[in-house]
Amino acid sequence: MKFAKIPMATITRLSVYMRTLQDLLEDDVDVISSERLARLCGVNPAQIRKDLAYFGEFGVRGVGYRVGDLLGQIKDILGLTRRWNLAMVGLGNLGSALVRHANFLKHGYTFTAAFDVDPQKVGKRLPNGLLINHVNEIEEVVKDRDVNVGIITTPASAAQSVANQLVLAGINGILNFAPVQIQVPDCCHVENVDFTISLDTIAYHLSVSG
Ligand code: NAD
Repeated sequence: MKFAKIPMATITRLSVYMRTLQDLLEDDVDVISSERLARLCGVNPAQIRKDLAYFGEFGVRGVGYRVGDLLGQIKDILGLTRRWNLAMVGLGNLGSALVRHANFLKHGYTFTAAFDVDPQKVGKRLPNGLLINHVNEIEEVVKDRDVNVGIITTPASAAQSVANQLVLAGINGILNFAPVQIQVPDCCHVENVDFTISLDTIAYHLSVSG
């Protein structure tokens, strides 16, 4: 399914709606009013309606949304009705902690490959049983294990060369934690994550509020 000109903020909010709907489904909630869903998601009902309107008509007038149906539809929009395979590159403090986290699996993301350069780590297995391969094996392993997304948790100095290797291996999606802007061809989508940028935003809000 392809939709033109969808604001990134809408895509981000769809993720929030999806997680909230998942929690509601686990609590056996079948139907929810747009007001209550909006409150749980921290937005207003008009915002939810506007976001969903990009993709079609959802909800039942006077009733609200059927939780299971809306969850399925949002997963479909986000491409989350299939499994996505991840490769972690850089198994240091951050990479090892992320690989261990169960939240990825819960949301349909499975680590199928892990890479490092450290001879103390290459050849060892992570607690989940995944073998750490040398980064020079990226191309072969990525193809072999059908990896779709690469996550970079190496030092900044290594991030660009790792990104180049991932792209050469056919990866079109990279989540980059290294504090450097990596350059990739247009066919590859990069998302940068930097907790300190979020902290800067908090610092700003705390500063202006007194
Ligand atoms: P770390 O030094 O503990 O781990 C880095 C790992 O990368 C090591 O295992 C190292 O052997 C490996 N490595 C080095 N060169 C490599 C290469 N070419 N290919 C594959 N692996 C390679 O570092 P850390 O504390 O885990 O941090 C990792 C990265 O994440 C750093 O760039 C750090 O600045 C960044 N970071 C980002 C955030 C954020 O909010 N985005 C938060 C913390 C850390």
